[in-house]
Order: sequence, then structure tokens, then C-alpha cells
Amino acid sequence: MTENPSPEGAKDSSHTLNSLRGTILEHFFRVSGLTIIFLALIANLASAQARPFPGPDLQQIYQRLLPQIEEIPAFDHHAHPGFSDDPDVDAMAAPPDASSSLRTRDDNPELIAAAKSLFGYPYNDLSPEHSKWLVEKKAELKKQYPGTAYFDMILDKLNTKSSVANRAMMPDYLDPKRFPWVFFSDSFLWPFNNQRETARNPDEGVYIPLQEKMLHRWMQQENVSKLPAGFSDYLKFISQTLEDNKSKGGIAQKFEVAYFRPTTFGDPTRAEVEDIYERYVTGGIPTEKEYRAFQDFIFRYLVQESGRLHLPVHIHTAIGIGDYFNLSQSNVMNLESVLRDPRYASTTFVLIHGGYPLEREAVWLAAMKNVYLDSSFGELTQYPSAFKETLKMWLETFPDKVTFGTDCFPYNQVLGAEESYWLGVRSSRTALAAALAEMVSENEISESHALELAHGYLHDNAVKLYEGRVH
Ligand SMILES: [Zn+2]
Repeated sequence: MTENPSPEGAKDSSHTLNSLRGTILEHFFRVSGLTIIFLALIANLASAQARPFPGPDLQQIYQRLLPQIEEIPAFDHHAHPGFSDDPDVDAMAAPPDASSSLRTRDDNPELIAAAKSLFGYPYNDLSPEHSKWLVEKKAELKKQYPGTAYFDMILDKLNTKSSVANRAMMPDYLDPKRFPWVFFSDSFLWPFNNQRETARNPDEGVYIPLQEKMLHRWMQQENVSKLPAGFSDYLKFISQTLEDNKSKGGIAQKFEVAYFRPTTFGDPTRAEVEDIYERYVTGGIPTEKEYRAFQDFIFRYLVQESGRLHLPVHIHTAIGIGDYFNLSQSNVMNLESVLRDPRYASTTFVLIHGGYPLEREAVWLAAMKNVYLDSSFGELTQYPSAFKETLKMWLETFPDKVTFGTDCFPYNQVLGAEESYWLGVRSSRTALAAALAEMVSENEISESHALELAHGYLHDNAVKLYEGRVH
């Protein structure tokens, strides 16, 4: 930080080469004004030799970039908006007694800063009598901003143009124009007797019954009272649900399959799986191997259908809540055999949470034209100083493939999705400004290029995936 490697030094070292290039080009373009343009271009490239440390201009660049970044209306690519007493905020629930990392605990003092900023909270703690003030303030605002106006007002305060609502179902208090729905598809993987899976550990004891419930809700929606006896009809039921969810406003389907089983997907034949389905749909417990093979096929079927229906696939790729979440079996790289399979080239994949804490590996999966990363949760679980490093590394690799999200969720009755949104948005914008400021100061990119990358990350890269359905 103390020494500023001079861009002049970089220019000197390539001086001879540049003179030679200049001479050759001069011969070619002597007669036209292009000579000047070409020489200027070469000089520019030489002065952009990157250096390994930011210069003393770092803070100034950050101070210039941050207000411009705050002005960019954002598209939040992954969030769970809703009130804390709304059971449809997620298709899952937190397992009993789950550990939370330091920053994601509900006693994080930054959440008090969020309440101050959003609601004018006048206290510096969340004691029960002070918390009551916040609960009452929100109740008052809900009256003042009825129906969908309350959460629209929250987005306005955050300069978020629209936010994905990754929810079991949509409530009437979220405006579908600003909260496009991403629905859950995991439940199609669980049509059989799930006794063994439910008993595996206390986390699965919470998750699997919720998957069964979700499958029944899709059945109700499609007027299916009993699962079909034939496999073809089961596939038709799945496709019909996807189509209906799309016409109800769904923009993508989400998998959180990593919570329930390893994310290594085999490739069984249809005949094999048809036999498994027809044997167990009416009762009996499939072996673990049979159940996995069935799920492998259904997962791939859903991925293929996503291509046909232009419904991007969102996949949870990160550590997860619950102490039994198996990190090695849900490693983002397990998905490589699906993501790099040319049969799915027309399906768009979004790796939700960017594989965290394996985000360095994950970004190389975005080499595939149809694979994108979402940074949500990374900005909530890491502090901005660490999250900045993630963003910088991603922006230096495939900047047009990375997208912003918060993973906001209601903590409890006092601290809601509102405070979580605030923390996610603020952390992302400040970390982004810091990452870009370093890149500018280290001569990697120009300041105007930095702002283009900011627009891409905060809004444009994600929005273009939905073919005009989101803004
Ligand atoms: Zn989420």
C-alpha cells in the first residue's frame, strides 16, 4: 500500500516493442489519420499493464464509484421475501437447533443499523420493550401501505427495481410485477414411501415431510387426487405443473436437492426407472439405490423440460442450514456432469449462492454459455471485506456471468425480510464498489468499464436470462 508502482515503469519496459509495432503500423497507415489512432491505442494498452497492489488512489476511486453504484436500480436474483408468520416463504424450514455462523445470527448488531435506516428505529439494542417499538412501527406502516404497497416501498428504499420471490407459493401481498416467482421442483423427486429418508437424521425429519406436502399441493393444483399408476402419466403431471406455474408467473424452477441427497446425478435408462416407479407408486419402500436412480432420471427430465419451456433452472449450490448438511456430497463440482452435458445446452442454469465456499471452482463452470452464478448468501454470511474478494475474483474471470442476489429471509417476528434485504443490498453494493476500485487502481480495467461491470452484476446479466419477463 505504501509504494505506488508507477504506470510509467510499465510503459518503459515495453517501450522497444511498442516502437517496433508503431514503425510497422506507420508504414501501413502513413497516408491516413489512422496512424495517430493506432499509436494512441497501443500506448493505452501498454499503460494498462496490471500491477499487483492498489495505489494510493484506491480510497478516492472507491468514494467515486460507491455513489454511482448506489444509483443503479438492482435486480435481486434470489430472495425469500415475506412476513415471518407466512409458511410459504420457503418450501423448507430451519431444522431444530441449527448452528448459525456469526454474521447470520439474529443478534448481529448490523440488523439494528438496518432497522434504523429503514424504519428510524431509535434504540441501540433489541431488548423486548424496544423490539416492541419495531413490531408496532411495521404494523403501522402496513396500514399506511396496504396490500402490495408495503414491500414495494421496501424495494424502493433499497433501490431494488425487482426481486425474485423464491417461495413455495405467492401471497397476495407481493406485487408479481416487482416480485417474480421462482417455484420449487424438488418434491417431484419424492413420490414414494419416504420413511427411511425421514428417519435419516433430525434435519431430514423436518425437510422430507415438507417435500411430501409440496407434492400434494402440486397435485391439488393439477386436480390429481392420486399419483398416476403409469410412469408416462407421472411425467405428464410434472410437465403440466411446470407449464401451469409458468403461466401463473413463474420465471424459473428451483432445486434445493443438496439438502436431501448427494448432488451426483447418474444417468439411468427410462425403462429402468419406469419399472421402479410402477412398482413403488402404490406402496412399498424402494431400496436407496432404486430411489436414487429414479430421482436421477426425474432431475434430468426437469432440466430438459426447462430448456423446452424457457424456464431457467436455479440450483442451491453452497453450504446449507442444519448441522447435518453434507458439504462434500453437495460439492458444486458434482453438477459438472449435468452442466457440461450437451443434451442440456438449451437449458439455462443459475448456480444459486455460487458454490460458496467453493466459489473459486464454481466460477469456471460459468465457462459454459448457459451457466450463470448468483452471489446471494455469500454477502450475508461473509463480511464485506471477505465478500469483496469473491466478487473481485468472479469479475476478473467471467464478469458477464455473475449476478446479484440477497437470499433475504425473515429472521423472526421482530427482524424481518426487510432488515435482511437491507443487509444484503448494502453489503453487496459496498463490496462491489471495493472490488471494482481495486481493479481500477491495479490497472486492470478503466473506471468506465468498472461501471459497466457494476450494471451487469447488479441488474443486466440476470435480467437478460428471462427474455423480457422481468425488469
Ligand atoms: Zn435461498
